[in-house]
Amino acid sequence: MAGKANKGAKQEKLTTADLKDLRKRLLDRKAELVDEINTILGQAHTSSDNRSAEVMDQASDSYDDELAMQLARNQMEQLLAIDEALKQMDEGIYGVCEGCGQFIGVKRLEAIPFAALCMDCKRRQEEEGGEEDEFERAGPSFTTIE
Ligand SMILES: [Zn+2]
Repeated sequence: MAGKANKGAKQEKLTTADLKDLRKRLLDRKAELVDEINTILGQAHTSSDNRSAEVMDQASDSYDDELAMQLARNQMEQLLAIDEALKQMDEGIYGVCEGCGQFIGVKRLEAIPFAALCMDCKRRQEEEGGEEDEFERAGPSFTTIE
């Protein structure tokens, strides 16, 4: 009964179990990031409610130390990427490369659950002078936070 050859497929699809595991990782990482951001910003909000939007509001209007902001900003970009990934999971479009529309691949998603690009597109972006690490998803919406 080993007839499921599946030769044409470039990469295997995510299973429900994969998705469940990846979602958990995203949520764990998100909680960590919220803590880290709170620490960086020196806010007293050590409660574990992770409303990222609120954290970002506070960051943008009540804190102006540049170095801390830069750090917090990196974390927040990651947070946005995670939110986006979670949203895509809900919509059933998670794991698709934003560059070429191909499946990103289980291995890469396990390493970076919020990756927006497959390895090929990521590499191409870097060759074309891409600066950032894994924050492709942050996109234009993030430029409002200065
Ligand atoms: Zn791609």
